[in-house]
Amino acid sequence: MKIKPILAVLMMVIMVLTACQSKQASQGDENDKASNSEQVKDKKNEQKADNQEGNKEEENIAESEKENDSKNENKESAKEESTAKKDEEPDQNGIVTISDPTAIDLVVNKQRKLPDGFEPPNLVEPNVPFSFDKWREKRQIREVAAGPLEELFKGAEKAGVDLVAVSGYRSYQRQETIYNYNVETKGLEHANKYSAKPGHSEHQTGLTMDVSSAGVSFNLVEDFRDTPEGDWLADHAHEYGFIIRYPKGDADITGYSYEPWHIRYVGKEMAKEIHEQQTTLEEFFGLYTEEKEKTNQ
Ligand SMILES: [Zn+2]
Repeated sequence: MKIKPILAVLMMVIMVLTACQSKQASQGDENDKASNSEQVKDKKNEQKADNQEGNKEEENIAESEKENDSKNENKESAKEESTAKKDEEPDQNGIVTISDPTAIDLVVNKQRKLPDGFEPPNLVEPNVPFSFDKWREKRQIREVAAGPLEELFKGAEKAGVDLVAVSGYRSYQRQETIYNYNVETKGLEHANKYSAKPGHSEHQTGLTMDVSSAGVSFNLVEDFRDTPEGDWLADHAHEYGFIIRYPKGDADITGYSYEPWHIRYVGKEMAKEIHEQQTTLEEFFGLYTEEKEKTNQ
């Protein structure tokens, strides 16, 4: 009879197909992730149905869902999560003290301060032209950002624009002096609007440099954006790992008006992404929501 061999072949084909399918499923990352997140969702539904389960479990599931989500995204998003985890509880004034002030991906702003008296590690003087000759603490930047800053200046030079460094690291004590001086001479409201409170200046991280050009007499003014140097910086800073930290029109998010001269080192990958998304550091890390803003008003 011919039926038996045909059945045998069919069986073989089915077995091979089944083997192939299971192999594909285990090899495909995307399939794995999809099934993982399905499992998590199932788990969550069970969770909801079962009122006896504790809140902690709910949190764990939320965490693992978050993990699954971030696996589908890029490295920056993983960083985003890690930074969010580092957050500490705000004090009675709504101020968060940053728990890892030496991190490259930290966010310092009016709501987030560095620990009192924090001094960054490995401050060095970068080999770039400055607008002044004397040694001052503001000639310094953290070593991790010094090389990239030098590269940025080399890139600018190649493009035929003459960037000049104006102000880098600023200590807690120096910021305190500046802030107190502004309070005394211009009043509290003005001081709070235009200068950072001690611990709240990004310059204290050692990851920041203010730059300018001869076209605006090395001043830190919005007109810098219209010089060839300001123009080049806006387009190319990210290629060297720096972002324009306070973009135009985002004062309600960053806490500061447009500062086309203030660049902050975040590393190439993050800088590229922030540049492409035309976003702010606050939004990148999910630290700003419109709801938050509404409650602040
Ligand atoms: Zn600055």
